[in-house]
Amino acid sequence: MTLQNYDVVVIGAGPAGYVAAIRCAQLGLKTACVDEWINEAGRPSLGGTCLNVGCIPSKALLDSSHFYHRLTHQAVEHGIKVTQASIDIAAMQRRKTKIVSTLTKGIEGLFKKNKVERLLGTGSLAGNGQVTITPDEEGAVYTVQAKQIIIATGSYPLSISQAPIDGTHVVDSSGALTFDEVPRRLGVIGAGVIGLELGSVWNRLGAEVIVLEALDNFLPAVDQTLAKEALQNFQKQGLKIQLGSMLTSTKVTEVGVEVDYQTTAGTRHIEVDKLIVAVGRVPYTEGLGAKEIGLKLDGRGYIQVDEHWRTNLEGVFAIGDVIGGPMLAHKGSEEGIAVAEVIGGQAGHVNYETIPWVIYTWPEIAWVGKTSQYLSSEGIDYRVGSFPFMASGRARNMGETNGRVKIIADVKTDRVLGVHVFGPTASELIAEAVLAMECDASAEDLARTVHAHPTLAEAMHEAALAVDGRAIHI
Ligand code: FAD
Ligand code: NAD
Repeated sequence: MTLQNYDVVVIGAGPAGYVAAIRCAQLGLKTACVDEWINEAGRPSLGGTCLNVGCIPSKALLDSSHFYHRLTHQAVEHGIKVTQASIDIAAMQRRKTKIVSTLTKGIEGLFKKNKVERLLGTGSLAGNGQVTITPDEEGAVYTVQAKQIIIATGSYPLSISQAPIDGTHVVDSSGALTFDEVPRRLGVIGAGVIGLELGSVWNRLGAEVIVLEALDNFLPAVDQTLAKEALQNFQKQGLKIQLGSMLTSTKVTEVGVEVDYQTTAGTRHIEVDKLIVAVGRVPYTEGLGAKEIGLKLDGRGYIQVDEHWRTNLEGVFAIGDVIGGPMLAHKGSEEGIAVAEVIGGQAGHVNYETIPWVIYTWPEIAWVGKTSQYLSSEGIDYRVGSFPFMASGRARNMGETNGRVKIIADVKTDRVLGVHVFGPTASELIAEAVLAMECDASAEDLARTVHAHPTLAEAMHEAALAVDGRAIHI
């Protein structure tokens, strides 16, 4: 029997895989993308974790809950009286589902437009460039032939034995996106990105939220000046973040969850209605046939690749969450573009030094490059310029004066080494810093760039001026 032949078969249609497939097709390669995701409605859905249960639905709920919080807490200072704001969780969830469905269907459209063939089911490596497809629904298993294979199978939530997920009382991030009412008391294990974002959603909607974090320091990857300011701010908002609190056990009862944890002061006990477990994510390679085919994984289960995303198997590449590094959608997508270009004979490249991070709390936290604590530990001399939103005219107009921009520059060359923002729309403001670093800009370059007035971006300008001790408005 002749097998269907492709130049490239991509396994996984998350932000790494679907972008890789489109870029391959743009380069004239005959491309297919196989994906096994089945959504809540029982239908195949493109977009992987990010679109179905990650970036998009979480930000939909963050935006809705932020809107509600502004109405109930901030409208009054603008002279707006809101007497009867109330929450309709079902409507909020329907809005979220509609956004997800529009965007995942959008990828179907992009595949059609670019002539990427969509294959439904689980793809596994069968050797000699062959991929076996096991359909999601009943149907015969079949095999396709590819000159090159790109694995982009992503990651899934890490589970811990102290808190088994039951999907009702104890949930992972996916479960926490589908609550049909606001829990009265919500526990969160892990004060990482997911814990803070989803904890914020339900806190804003009225839940009493307690976040238990095993580590003693808050957000160790974030510049610690900003992390400290953020911690204080979040505590003020009502997120009870308890550091140095290691979960020891949980017990599901008829009414909720009993949680025991250990602190330096001894064992503690709380009772909550729901518990979110958000303690990290792990690479997903089940179903790929990695072991049978001899695909090399590292000790933590990530697929090992070289600097061109080549695995140890001839003609097999891997990208996205499944290869480790920052588990971020845009990191995976950039790898998707680059690997397609490598396969297409071009010089695909990703600059891992300028990948932005964003935590979508409010205020938001965003950064690119190195932190002060890292540079100090490496003995690299630097200068810092900082500017608080308190001194920004636009921030005052918006009633959003918390936080600051901090720019770190090399003491000798003035090259920007890191930019850290805690503040309103930090997720948008960081883009300027990423571009600056991508172009090897100096703090002086940013300081000499004209920024419109009044804008939040002026805080970036002033922080750049402050690196040289010449901020104007502080
Ligand atoms: P995935 O998105 O996980 O996609 C992998 C796909 O491969 C899936 O569709 C899966 O079904 C499929 N698959 C796996 N194995 C097979 C197989 N053998 N055959 C066929 N198909 C297979 N990142 C951000 O940058 N910004 C955010 O705001 C953000 N928010 C997040 C919020 C939450 C709640 C979560 C959980 C994650 C969030 N992330 C965010 C992380 C982001 O979702 C991931 O980094 C991103 O989805 C990784 O992309 P990927 O393509 O590598 O893998
Ligand atoms: P994380 O690594 O960000 O945080 C997990 C936290 O749980 C850590 O602080 C860890 O110390 C703590 N922890 C681990 N075990 C614990 C225990 N037994 N008791 C108490 N605390 C414990 O992981 P996450 O929040 O699950 O997110 C996973 C990944 O998903 C992120 O690293 C990120 O790459 C991605 N993500 C990104 C975004 C975004 O870009 N805005 C949003 C959500 C998720």
